[in-house]
Amino acid sequence: MTVRRVEAREDIAIMSGYHSPQVDVEVRLNTNESPLAPPAGFVDAVASAARDIQWHRYPDRLASELRTRLADLHGVEPSQVFVANGSNEVLQTLTLAYGGPGRSVAVFEPTYAMHSQIARVAGSEVIQGARGEDLSLDLGEVGSVVSTARPSITYLCSPNNPTGMVETPETVKTVLEMVADIGGLLVVDEAYGQFAPWSALELISEDTPLVVTRTFSKTWSMAAARLGYLIGPSWLVAELDKVVLPYHLDSLKQAAGLAALDFVGDMENRVSILNEERGRLDVALHELPCELWPSSANFILFRPLNKDADTVWKELVERSVLVRNCSGWPGLEGCLRVTIGTTQEDDRFLAALREILV
Ligand SMILES: *Cc1c(COP(=O)(O)O)cnc(C)c1O
Repeated sequence: MTVRRVEAREDIAIMSGYHSPQVDVEVRLNTNESPLAPPAGFVDAVASAARDIQWHRYPDRLASELRTRLADLHGVEPSQVFVANGSNEVLQTLTLAYGGPGRSVAVFEPTYAMHSQIARVAGSEVIQGARGEDLSLDLGEVGSVVSTARPSITYLCSPNNPTGMVETPETVKTVLEMVADIGGLLVVDEAYGQFAPWSALELISEDTPLVVTRTFSKTWSMAAARLGYLIGPSWLVAELDKVVLPYHLDSLKQAAGLAALDFVGDMENRVSILNEERGRLDVALHELPCELWPSSANFILFRPLNKDADTVWKELVERSVLVRNCSGWPGLEGCLRVTIGTTQEDDRFLAALREILV
């Protein structure tokens, strides 16, 4: 039989996809994972849950127990919680329900690339607003994008990946008003929320077109599990439950989420250790020929001033240290992003960078 290739949707065929190159190195500081494993008690609890699961039965479709525990954690109703396979699946489900063909999604670059990637795959038009010179959000730009394009979904990311910068409560409230005025939805991606001094979760209510997304991938040290959630109005969660595939969240993952929630204190300890370690890295980077941005997350964006970023990235890899090369991202010429690792990993990174730049 002759081999015939089938053409993908035209808008998909021209896409480049999402790439985060993995290179085999000793010090991996490129994907903002936690360098610290979750506690042994958590692993034991998951192992024991695995033995108790009725493997021949479908999981609890609504993940009711997990939603209830997350609702308790945040002081909201279980009907205001939606859980999925990573916050990326949360965002995809949200975009399928509220974006899609004939609708637009607004992002302010540079920000997390998956917001626009997911929007495009769902068939939405993506409106890319620009941040200011210093990479902070420009409310004038937000206002003009929102009133002109009237996006169904507007994204903020706080702390923003890859800059690490936090939006103030005043900024989020202002954007929320702009978005509400045109009948749109504001999504605040708080993948790094626990590292930050405040959370937009305090603005959630049934009458507000606002959702906040969170993930277990970073602060909870569970990137391997692919678990994320959002908090938002119950009328919105009800729409998401119609869109998501049945039984999308497997029993083991639901159990893993529940087990994690028994170790909130450990998670908060890891967050404060990493925040302190970020302070140390920030001071050390300021002593090198680098420009850097004030981060409230577990990573730092920096721009080497005396060597181009591609060269620095390569010379770090030669020293077995992997960081994220952001220099090709909009507005981030010459920039690299380093994830906060363990003290030992960060010392390896700093020593390598010192050799390269000084
Ligand atoms: C890492 C990250 C996520 C996490 O996505 P998961 O699918 O939950 O792993 C979401 N948003 C931002 C901004 C991130 O940096």
